[in-house]
Amino acid sequence: MNITHPFRDADGDKLREECGIFGVICAKDAANIAAAGLHSLQHRGQEAVGITSFSGSEFHSHRGLGHVAQVFRHKELEALPGTMASGHVRYSTTGGSGLRNVQPLFADLVTGGFAIAHNGNISNAMTLKRDLVAKGSIFQSTSDTEVIIHLVATSRYPTLLDRFIDALRMVEGAYSLICMTNQGMIACRDPLGIRPLVMGRLGDAIVFASETVALDVIGAEFTRSIEPGELVQVDHKGTISSHRPFGNPDPRPCIFEHVYFSRPDSVMDGRSVYQVRKQIGVELAKEALADADIVIPVPDSGLPAAIGYAQESGIPFELGIIRSHYVGRTFIQPGDAARNADVKRKHNANRALVEGKRIVLIDDSIVRGTTSKKIVEMMRDAGAAEVHMRIASPPTEHSCFYGVDTPERSKLLAARMDTEAMAEFIQADSLAFVSIDGLYRAVGEEKRNKKCPQFCDACFSGEYPTKLTDFSERAPTKLNAA
Ligand code: AMP
Repeated sequence: MNITHPFRDADGDKLREECGIFGVICAKDAANIAAAGLHSLQHRGQEAVGITSFSGSEFHSHRGLGHVAQVFRHKELEALPGTMASGHVRYSTTGGSGLRNVQPLFADLVTGGFAIAHNGNISNAMTLKRDLVAKGSIFQSTSDTEVIIHLVATSRYPTLLDRFIDALRMVEGAYSLICMTNQGMIACRDPLGIRPLVMGRLGDAIVFASETVALDVIGAEFTRSIEPGELVQVDHKGTISSHRPFGNPDPRPCIFEHVYFSRPDSVMDGRSVYQVRKQIGVELAKEALADADIVIPVPDSGLPAAIGYAQESGIPFELGIIRSHYVGRTFIQPGDAARNADVKRKHNANRALVEGKRIVLIDDSIVRGTTSKKIVEMMRDAGAAEVHMRIASPPTEHSCFYGVDTPERSKLLAARMDTEAMAEFIQADSLAFVSIDGLYRAVGEEKRNKKCPQFCDACFSGEYPTKLTDFSERAPTKLNAA
């Protein structure tokens, strides 16, 4: 057990996770519903999936590496009886994540069984774990989520709910949680509401999910978002109670959910993700118009913004890049070589369209720069006369410590270079990013409130809304074009 880096896995790399969570209670076929819900959240994590169900006296669990449809077939779902179930999809960029980290995590506590599914990242987990290990806790996984279980287990409060609240008071960072106990389900969002969580109804059943798309897909009706800092409890009769143990701090939901992470058919805190992305394209066209013949999205992530850019600029929208649907998110590949190869397999130029044209490429973000560099090269190889790149988010200059996977800061292109140098690196004739205020306008705000931003935009601004006890950022030296 490595006390200095308690969350490092066997390969020495840190686990950074992206996840989707789902829970249902008072349903006949709870595990089947959970599988359907998780299937629609697959974009939030493609590496592993787990479902735990409760059949009145016992908890049943199945977890595996792979996609929902691969891990959960008829046989596996039949072995998960009961009227309550919760599940989790996740990926980490490291190769070393084994089954022991696949959620929901489960423990038998003095108060009974306790299953937990977590989306987000706890930014003082290492510190808490060191203390817990020193006091005798024995950890089974390298996941930050397990810290919550140990804090609940060692709390002095008598009831599970009080123990749970006690545990969460010690935790900093981002968490949306769906927990199951013998008594029912508890869903909660961290005090700033960094990660999303919504509630819906399917007949007599109550449903919780990371995104509204999961409610649509199972035929549930959207009830409301779980409020930042709210804890919602549902018992086996369907009685709902709401608690607000953390006061009412100003919320800071993650703005990157709108930029990239959520599915465009979801509605996040009252805003259609698709409409926001399209509006970012409109703002981008207002701020950084390119003199070009056609607008081309980098599929799929650049699509809605490219539609907005084309409509605002009057430049025709065309599918100049065709995407293979049999390659997943390229970002997921651990090594640079694998990522490079995957970008090539995933995207191909529509040569007949591109040849001889001045094109504007639209993508949602530049992280390491691998995708943009390859795509620009592909457009030039296909005979494009000029390639202008427009990005539907501000430069990603800072790492995320709240559950959106970004590499360490030294690997972020925008942390190392200014825009001109980045343009040179990706070999574009010009490069521009939407401004942070442009992004805020697109989500429906007049502008970013500098004193207290309406969102967590730390990946762009470096302003982290919580303490980062376990992490410190080292700024790499910036390269200029000259
Ligand atoms: P890169 O090639 O490293 O610059 O990655 C940029 C591409 O990855 C963009 O086209 C995005 O669509 C996608 N992307 C950005 N952030 C993430 C993330 N956190 N997880 C997965 N994919 C991402």
